[in-house]
Amino acid sequence: MAHTATATEYRPQSFSTLVGQDFVSTAIKNSLNSQKIANAFLLSGPRGVGKTTTARLIAKGLNCIHGPTGEPCNECIQCTSIKEGNNSDVIEIDGASNTSINNIKTIQEEIQYLPAAAKYKIYIIDEVHMLSKSAFNALLKTIEEPPEHVVFIFATTELNEVPATIKSRCQQFNLRLIPSSIIEKNIEKILTDKNISFDANGVKWIAKEGKGSLRDAYTLLDQIISFCGDEVTLEKIQSKLGLAGKEQIAQIISFILNEQLMDIHTKLNELLSSGCRIEQILADIISFFRDILLLKSQSSSDDIKNNSGYYSPEILEKLSIYDIENILDLAFDFYEKLKYSINQEMELEFFLIKLTKYKDFIRPGTLLKQIKALQTAFLEKKKLNELEITKTQHNSSENIVKKEAVSIENNVAQPKITESQTTNIEALDLNKKNGSEKEKINIQKTISIEQQSNISQKIETTKKSENIAVQTVEIKNNIDEKEANIQKIIHNDDNVESISKTEKIEENKSQSFSLSSLLPNNINTNETSYYEINKKNLKEIFSCTEYR
Ligand SMILES: [Zn+2]
Repeated sequence: MAHTATATEYRPQSFSTLVGQDFVSTAIKNSLNSQKIANAFLLSGPRGVGKTTTARLIAKGLNCIHGPTGEPCNECIQCTSIKEGNNSDVIEIDGASNTSINNIKTIQEEIQYLPAAAKYKIYIIDEVHMLSKSAFNALLKTIEEPPEHVVFIFATTELNEVPATIKSRCQQFNLRLIPSSIIEKNIEKILTDKNISFDANGVKWIAKEGKGSLRDAYTLLDQIISFCGDEVTLEKIQSKLGLAGKEQIAQIISFILNEQLMDIHTKLNELLSSGCRIEQILADIISFFRDILLLKSQSSSDDIKNNSGYYSPEILEKLSIYDIENILDLAFDFYEKLKYSINQEMELEFFLIKLTKYKDFIRPGTLLKQIKALQTAFLEKKKLNELEITKTQHNSSENIVKKEAVSIENNVAQPKITESQTTNIEALDLNKKNGSEKEKINIQKTISIEQQSNISQKIETTKKSENIAVQTVEIKNNIDEKEANIQKIIHNDDNVESISKTEKIEENKSQSFSLSSLLPNNINTNETSYYEINKKNLKEIFSCTEYR
């Protein structure tokens, strides 16, 4: 028995079995049932979604001996001959090879004659957009005033190339791409009919490759059945067609994220020597990243969610949505470039290695934003040219707090700090209570320093006992400085003591550092402490003298 292609064998013979085009089939069925017959139909849509099938169904619906009907019987002589393609009143013309005005003139002559046996003489013109301009003009006259027994059915993949004058005279139906899940169900049914065992992933893969076209999916299915025999599985498909499985793509991506360059090289060679095509590997990598993007943005389909085992937590955690978008941008560009490549293999390897630096990729938009932020920050800093130092003075006898604001004009335009500011703040002990060992000296200094930095410090000295002082230096730093050197130098009559500490300073954070030191025995000696904070381009010395 001659082999019949699945697409032909399973061509829908009724509107109820026309898959994925519910809206179109319902509308046509209704118009046939209500006997409102248009002179011309225009069916548009991508390839392989059922345009020719729909045209033949309309023909059957019109010419079935029970018609016009939305449910042709499929048994009468009209129905069966249309199905076999030998009904003399249903004329199929390929618009691509019959483009001239003469072809239309032939039709114009023919339509003067009544149909041979059916109610209607039906012209199905496929790829109608291919007709020449003069052919369209001739056709226009015909469909404006056709004899009652004539119906035209046009089909096209390029609706925008069909003149508006033609479109407006037709009843238009737009057929859509068929969802993968519907294609899957049909493939499963066919495999079951043919007694071929299958696994869900294999079927899913075929359906996805159909990219919305049932005919393409069926053609691929025929090919796969021819080499898979009575068992269709994803593994078999992959090994026969030289496809990299998702696990292998996941491995490559994991190598990319961990900068395992040698492993990328080895894995890629392994895939290529097993027969995988370079473009296919790249396409698989792209679709993998796209799936992760959908998963991360919580908008993935059930299909991806159900297969989320491939997308390891490591991959999901490491990549931000921003990263993935960057990677996809690059990958699409590279996909275009690959067509013109002299050495595809080497370029793909280089591209994958380049992807390991994905954290460095910055989109122009982001760069612009950062420049803008810098501009704003710079202008803000310029405003800080006016410095203000607040001096707080405590006075025990009068118990008042005196605040003094010192404004300093600073018109340095360059945001670079080369000068140092020295401020002396005097503080007197206020809280000395009878018999109490604890003295508390609060020295507060708030200083906004020039353009580049904005540092505030609060220094608190607590005398814990007679001869031990703990000093806490609190620094708030909102510029990008990594460390500060905090130094305390104590001058006495016969003693110079220096303690210093280098501390990490974090951006925009208040931090406290403690320096403890032994106070000199002679408690009455005045003590001066210097705090030196060394920062890039800035040396600030702050000194305080305690009078006893
Ligand atoms: Zn019939």
